Amino acid sequence: MAITEKITNTMKPTFWEGHIPVNYVYTYGHAGEKFFRAIKDKGTFLATYCSACDISYVPPKIYCDRCFTKLDRYIDVGTRGFIETFTVSFMNMDGSRKERPRILAMIRIVGTDGGLIHYIEGIGPDEIALGMPVQAVFKPKGKRTGAIDDIIGFGPVTRGRK
Ligand SMILES: [Zn+2]
Repeated sequence: MAITEKITNTMKPTFWEGHIPVNYVYTYGHAGEKFFRAIKDKGTFLATYCSACDISYVPPKIYCDRCFTKLDRYIDVGTRGFIETFTVSFMNMDGSRKERPRILAMIRIVGTDGGLIHYIEGIGPDEIALGMPVQAVFKPKGKRTGAIDDIIGFGPVTRGRK
């Protein structure tokens, strides 16, 4: 079908095959670079804080969403959080059943207004609960690349780590 042809039946889908070249370079931005560098080098999370609004951002932002103040003070907020909400996945993307269910959760980082969505490790679907304390589990330092998958997931809180 050529583009000059008239569509006479709206119930019959029309399409053209082709390719759209898309080239891009993704950057983390200023705050994202600091956030992922802290994960890679120190195994911890950074936040920014707006004192005017009394709100902290994890991942950090360079401007406050509420008052647009520039935020340039980064705070180490550690790796602990609690489960704010979660879902249990039993199926793979192709529709096949997973060998074991995986839990994906929104983890609120302790002492902040922010958090991350990530996998839960070491806690089963029958054990998980809203409000449960968890902490990040990172890849070994030498294997981290400064990416979100440097975090293996969040698991039970253990002693000796903040
Ligand atoms: Zn603010």
